[in-house]
Amino acid sequence: MKLEIVTIGTELLLGYTLDSNGAELGRALAAAGVEVVRRTSVPDRREAIRAAVAEALERTGFVISTGGLGPTRDDLTKTVVAELFGRTLVLDDALLAALEARFKRMGRWPMPPANRSQAEVPEGATVLPNPAGTAPGLWLEDSGGRVAVLLPGVPREMRGLVLDEVLPRLALRSGTSRRVVRSRTVRTTGVPESALAERVDPIEDSLAPLTLAYLPSVFGVDLRLTAWDLEPEDADARLAAAARQVARLVGEHYYGDDDSDLAAVVLQALRQQRHRLGVAESCTGGMVAERITNVPGASDTFIGGVVAYADVIKTAALKVPLEVIEAHGAVSEETVRAMAEGAQRLFAVDCSIAVTGVAGPSGGTSDKPVGTVWLAARVHTDSRAVRRVFPGDRDEIRRRAAQAALDLLRRLLAPA
Ligand code: AMP
Ligand code: MG
Repeated sequence: MKLEIVTIGTELLLGYTLDSNGAELGRALAAAGVEVVRRTSVPDRREAIRAAVAEALERTGFVISTGGLGPTRDDLTKTVVAELFGRTLVLDDALLAALEARFKRMGRWPMPPANRSQAEVPEGATVLPNPAGTAPGLWLEDSGGRVAVLLPGVPREMRGLVLDEVLPRLALRSGTSRRVVRSRTVRTTGVPESALAERVDPIEDSLAPLTLAYLPSVFGVDLRLTAWDLEPEDADARLAAAARQVARLVGEHYYGDDDSDLAAVVLQALRQQRHRLGVAESCTGGMVAERITNVPGASDTFIGGVVAYADVIKTAALKVPLEVIEAHGAVSEETVRAMAEGAQRLFAVDCSIAVTGVAGPSGGTSDKPVGTVWLAARVHTDSRAVRRVFPGDRDEIRRRAAQAALDLLRRLLAPA
């Protein structure tokens, strides 16, 4: 089954509100085996709403909208869609009574006249009760089987209506079919998209009917496999097999599946090998420690960190020799290695991570441009240091550096 989503609200186009309804609907519908083929956002303008809904109905015959069901002048969805279906708005007595009871219950009596319009429904529409708010959902269907489902914009209300009213009706419509759309993600880091593509290319054709998407972010490149419109068991079996195959080709760059967090993966490896970790951070200013302490249960493995931003802290707390900093600079292999060693000593741990770099926007030089970061990881006396030059703005460079620092330790801990 295919349908389109139209999210309505000028705030979505101005960028004040992220279209989380669209994203959430996409996930919920995919999980129920419904394919969203297009999503459109339009402002609170009569013609825009009308065109978006009409075009969606023309293409797929089924549209779900969110927003524009409130009691104010900018809430136009119901009127416009009623016109489109050639229906008049009629007062629904039961709805009006429920609405009035709600206002009484909440001590907001008398009900403002504007809210009365929320009890008007297009003739013949099914009212989808919304216990969390004043605007009910509406389900309109014409003689040709075309359907428009109108949902409120408030995310919590929309969510409740989707779960309680929309998904069960969709399941009924699709009859006995149990087909689903499901995804699985193979997470990679420290490797460019193009290099991954070269590795995965030999099997890409054989993955069909699954599709493969490359999704780069500051954490690395996620490879998302999706099964479309398959029986659940078939989808799961194909996804599991394909994910194994892809992970094998990706090799040492692969660190986990789906929502796996690299910090949690590293902590698990440390725990298994009975290590304890300390960190020394300059340009990331504590982001590595933040990533690690975000993971529940980190306290059994993570001892602490020091933000050694000024050189004097690098020398005083971490015992980086001043001559090393003077000879090679604060952003150098020698300094980052000494920081990692210093953290090991300071925290009396067998493993450490150190980061020092130029996060920008100023401070770059020709041999150390903005984005230059030296990373080090140590396990006992075994240590590794790498220089990376990260793209992006200050925030991105710092987040990429934290991820790369964790990854360096992951690789050092991996069995050879
Ligand atoms: P409305 O039903 O258009 O009156 O929307 C009520 C509120 O829901 C708006 O003020 C927004 O904060 C929120 N909202 C509307 N549409 C969306 C959307 N697509 N995603 C997330 N929030 C939304
Ligand atoms: Mg609105």
